[in-house]
Parts: sequence; structure tokens; C-alpha cells
Amino acid sequence: MKASPKESPENAIRILVVDDEPDIRDGCERILRRMDFDVFKAQEGEEALAKVYAQAPAIVLLDLKMPGIDGMEVLARIQQHDPTVMVIVITGYATVETAIEAMKKGAYDFIPKPFEPDQLRIVVNRAREKLRLTRETEKLAAERRKTLADLGTEKSRIRTIVESLPSGLVVTNALGQVVLMNPAFRLQLNLPEDAPAGQPIEAYILDEGFSQLVRESSAGRHCSSGSAPTYEFALPGERYLQARGRSVISEDNECLGAVVTVVDITTMKILDRLKSEFVATVSHELRSPLSTIHEQIALVLRDMVQGDSEREQLLLARAKEKTQGLISLIGDLLDLSRIESGSVCQEPKPVQLEDLLRGIVDFLSTRSNSRNQKLTLEAPQTPLPPLTADPLALESIFGNLITNAINYTPDGGEIRVAAEVAGDRVQVRVSDTGFGIEPDKLDRIFERFYRVKNDKTRFITGTGLGLSIVKGLVQTLRGAITVASEPGKGSTFTVTLPY
Ligand code: ADP
Repeated sequence: MKASPKESPENAIRILVVDDEPDIRDGCERILRRMDFDVFKAQEGEEALAKVYAQAPAIVLLDLKMPGIDGMEVLARIQQHDPTVMVIVITGYATVETAIEAMKKGAYDFIPKPFEPDQLRIVVNRAREKLRLTRETEKLAAERRKTLADLGTEKSRIRTIVESLPSGLVVTNALGQVVLMNPAFRLQLNLPEDAPAGQPIEAYILDEGFSQLVRESSAGRHCSSGSAPTYEFALPGERYLQARGRSVISEDNECLGAVVTVVDITTMKILDRLKSEFVATVSHELRSPLSTIHEQIALVLRDMVQGDSEREQLLLARAKEKTQGLISLIGDLLDLSRIESGSVCQEPKPVQLEDLLRGIVDFLSTRSNSRNQKLTLEAPQTPLPPLTADPLALESIFGNLITNAINYTPDGGEIRVAAEVAGDRVQVRVSDTGFGIEPDKLDRIFERFYRVKNDKTRFITGTGLGLSIVKGLVQTLRGAITVASEPGKGSTFTVTLPY
């Protein structure tokens, strides 16, 4: 076995000087030590070989003419033991030919005797330089091997992760063609296990919404760092999937394609439906007894005459107010479950939006007048085209928005309703000069039961369901709703609907 390393701990290169003449050995040692070599010596072949085996020198200065084993033989054995050892043979003038022969047998260089210190330095330095270059090349080769090995493991690691993901994953190129699908995706779409990639997404699934999401993501439309757009779709056998698409952008800002993940949301959907059905049933059951209680309290209150206990009147008035609150909550819950079950907006008719808005504004002006608020409907610049939509849904949307504007605006404030055509859509804005909404709450106001509670809104009654109903209805009508608000200045809710 070879001993290692070929350098001393201080990283000096080890060099073995083999010569039977002590003066040459010592002379060489002095020169080489000054050149920072780690020098050790041997006076004949046997000793030299023992030291080569034990101390693994990088360079050997070898006298060819020695008593005992012949220098050529020592060279051969060193070569056999470790061909990387650089042997520089030392020869007398008479034996230059032997030196050449030694070179042929693998010696690195030779130095004729007698030699000047400079000659020794030049030859040894050349060997040192060669050694350095060889080591550097070896190091580079090792690094390259390691990088290639790393790449190999990295690739198979990523493949394993992608293959064992529980969610579906499909990757497309910039043309929208599928370049990779994982087994979960094939299973979700009932595709054969060996279905090959390479086709446009429509070849794998016929769902226009899903294809559109994939096409748009592949074309670089969904690359913002915010949340990626989602699309839910149903498959035969009451299975529901949710896809999320994200464009992949290169360092040069070029869209390379898309990564689309698909999650099975069937259980969530079924639970959601069961919950809606439960809420609808309970609300339905509660509605008539509550209405009866409410009416009866109203009757008792009406029939009370002056002189009856003021305290009882107050308690009954509070009970009436609370039952009214509960009846509104039940109404809202029933509206929500109708939206969720898809049983609203099923009777679209041509609607003159301006007339519908005027009706709501007139109806609610009694409430705004009682609070000294100015409620106006601005006439559109161009006449609005008729909308084809369920009028009850539209009334609910704008009724809720204008009621909120009145509720969340202090007495004497102003509420403006304006409608106009914007491309192939109609845009209705409900603006107020009310309390406004803090930026961190803006995203949440459309959630069910979410109410902003602060000093200004604490005493305003409500269910927290109005805006979720509005959003649900707007989405059913394939429209969109946005809000802009500044605390202390007011809010503007904008609804856009296709016509
Ligand atoms: P509710 O009005 O019954 O509380 P909504 O879902 O209609 O429920 O509204 C949710 C919350 O959004 C309200 O509690 C209120 O804090 C805020 N909000 C809605 N409309 C406005 C508005 N025009 N100005 C200020 N805040 C509003």
C-alpha cells in the first residue's frame, strides 16, 4: 500500500536524495531545504526503497551508480510502486546514455555530475512546477467529476420529489405545450399511466377554464409574486379539482412556460355543501317561529297604553330589535346558501340598470334623509345598454352597497352612485364620504361574518354577511368588485358587469 501524503504536514514537498557520496547528499540537502523542500536522504538502493515506501516522497533524486542494488533497478521498483513519483537521475558524464535510457524507463529528468547548485535548482524547480500543474489538473478533474455526480443526484432527487408529490403537477413551455406531468396529475384526470407529454393542454382535458389558465400562465400572464390565480372545476363522479397557475420567468425576463398545480378539493367541497345545507335547513326552521315572535312582540308593544311600565316597554322594544337582527341574519344566511347552491340568478331578464338604481336610491333616500346625508344618482354620460341579469340579484348587490355607504357615513355626509359604460362592461361606483376602511382590513371585508370593529363602527348593527353576498352575486353574474378606501375620507366600491 502506498504511504501518503506526499507532502509534510507543513505542505512542503517531500524529496528523497539517494547518493552514496555523503558530500553530494549533504550539499543537495542544504540547497533543497533553502528551496523549502522537506528533504530526507538514503545512501544506497535498499534504504532508498524503504524510504519511498514509508514516506512517499513526491520527487526522488537518484544516483544511478551506487553499490548494492543498481540505480536502474531502484527506478524500476519505484515506478512499479508509484508511477507518479518524479525521479530525477543523477549521472556521471560517462553515463549520459544511461540517463537517456532511464528517461525512457520513466525517469522525469536527469542531472549530470558534477553539477552546480543552480543546475540542481533549475531541474528541481521544473519538477516542482510540473508537480503543481499535475495536482491542479487532478483537482479540477475531481471537481468536475463531483459536479457531474452532484448534477446526477440533484436531477434524480428532483424527479423523485415531482413523481411522489401528492398533488398534480403539470409544466408547460411558452407555447402552452405540456412538457412534464406527474403521476398524481395523470390519476386526477384519469389519463393512462404512460400518457406522453408533448401535446397542448386541451389534448389532455376538455375544460375551457382550465385550458385558459394554463394558456395564460404559459404566456407569462401570471408572474407576479403575489398569490397565483386559481380555477376550480368539476369532473364526472362528483369530483372537484382546484388548479393554480404560475408563469416561469427567466433571468432575462422572458416567459419560459408555466407550472400548474392541481389539488383535489372534493372532500372540502362536499363538506362545504353539507354545511350550507345544514345552515339553510336550520335557518329555514328558525325563520317562521322567529318572525312569529317578532310580530307578537310588535303587537304587544302597539297595544301598550300610556301608563304601562316604561321598563317593560323598553325591554320589549329591545327584544323586538334583537329578533329583527336575527331575522336579517337568517335572511342573509339563506341568501348565501342560495348563492352557493347556484340557485340564484337563474332568471336573467333585460334590465335597465339606471331605472333599477334610481328605484333603490329613491327607496333608501328616506334613510339617508333622516341622517341629513346627500344621496345622489349621477346620470351616465352615454345611455347605459340593457343588462341581461337577474334583477333580484342586482337589487341585492346595489341595495347592500348603498345601505352600507349610508350606515358607515356620519350624519351630513355624502353618497354618490354613478354608472357608466367601460368597454364591453358596465361600471357602477358607490362612493361615500364615510369612515373608510384601514388598508389591512380591505381584503377581509368580503369574508363571511367579518366586521370592522372600531370606535366609529362599534354601535352600527350588521351581520357581516352583506359584502360576501354581494361578492357571491357579482361573481355569479361573471362580474368583479373592487374597493378603494381611505380612513377618515371615505370609500368607493366599484362593480363591473358584462352586458
Ligand atoms: P355588515 O355591514 O353587516 O357589518 P358587510 O359584509 O356588509 O357587513 O360589511 C363588512 C364590513 O365592511 C362592515 O362591518 C364595515 O366595517 C365594512 N364596510 C362595508 N362597507 C363600508 C363602507 N361603505 N364604508 C366603511 N366601511 C364599510
